[in-house]
Amino acid sequence: MNLDQSNLQKLVDDAHARHSKTSGGANASYIPYLAQVPSHLAGVAIVTVDGKVAFAGDADYPFAIESISKVCTLAAAIDQVGSASLRHKIGADPTGLPFNSVIALELHKGKPLSPLVNAGAMATVSLLQAKDTEARWQAIVDIQSALVGSPVKLSDDVNRSEQDTNFHNRGIAWLLYAANAMYCDPMEACDVYTRQCSTLVTATQLATMAATLAGRGHNPVTGKQVVKAEHVRHILAEMTMEGLYEHSGDWAYNVGLPGKSGVGGGLLAVVPGVMGIAAFSPPLDVAGNSVRGQLMVADIARAVGANIYDKQ
Ligand code: GLN
Repeated sequence: MNLDQSNLQKLVDDAHARHSKTSGGANASYIPYLAQVPSHLAGVAIVTVDGKVAFAGDADYPFAIESISKVCTLAAAIDQVGSASLRHKIGADPTGLPFNSVIALELHKGKPLSPLVNAGAMATVSLLQAKDTEARWQAIVDIQSALVGSPVKLSDDVNRSEQDTNFHNRGIAWLLYAANAMYCDPMEACDVYTRQCSTLVTATQLATMAATLAGRGHNPVTGKQVVKAEHVRHILAEMTMEGLYEHSGDWAYNVGLPGKSGVGGGLLAVVPGVMGIAAFSPPLDVAGNSVRGQLMVADIARAVGANIYDKQ
């Protein structure tokens, strides 16, 4: 696979040209802020493990990170508590149900199964060692910034919109507490989780994060080791199981790459040892994955023969 700069540019340009105007899907509406983001926006970016960057369309438009933040918090927590404890306390299986399912929690006696659904993500927030709420929040800002390769900021507008409407997540946090599966104050975990979903990122930043995971935790833009190399395989396994929620199996079947989406319209995929691909476009499918984002990322993955189940 030839990944010189002009080829990378052609990959993002072609994917964008083919899919940036594809119809279908709808913005998330249960968070008021997300409903009013212009639906026509579409951007795509690639960052290679040796630091080459290519992007097309609205790849520098800042949007809400949402569920993609769950991967960042997982990275921080697994480094602190270790992979065995993370798996024991949170899990490493798909729920097969929507990302905010209460039924999934009830079915498994309060074990979230995955750090990439809302229940598991709040429990993962609670695992971080922090002396108070602000220290917990700062740890998350730090890991998000380290992974995307530049400082990440909270959007007060997104955060207010989410904090005013996150009653379902508060309910999940109390259910975890009742099942002894919450490791700090449940409303602190829910508050910090809601904030972590409300930072703004670009597709180019998300491609940098994906490239960092592709490079066993080494960020090719900053040159820093952000996650312990031996933990990256576990993070990628979690992404394979639950990264695109109840469509994770379809994504693995069709594209064959660890991925993660967010209801802000972001999507990233990791090509281990090679590169990160990310896309942004607000309209979502029924599971909460960007419709155009999936098409653009899948296009590039196919063009470079990136399917990890297809290696000789
Ligand atoms: N903040 C959103 C929520 O908790 C994130 C969900 C998502 O991106 N899937 O519902």
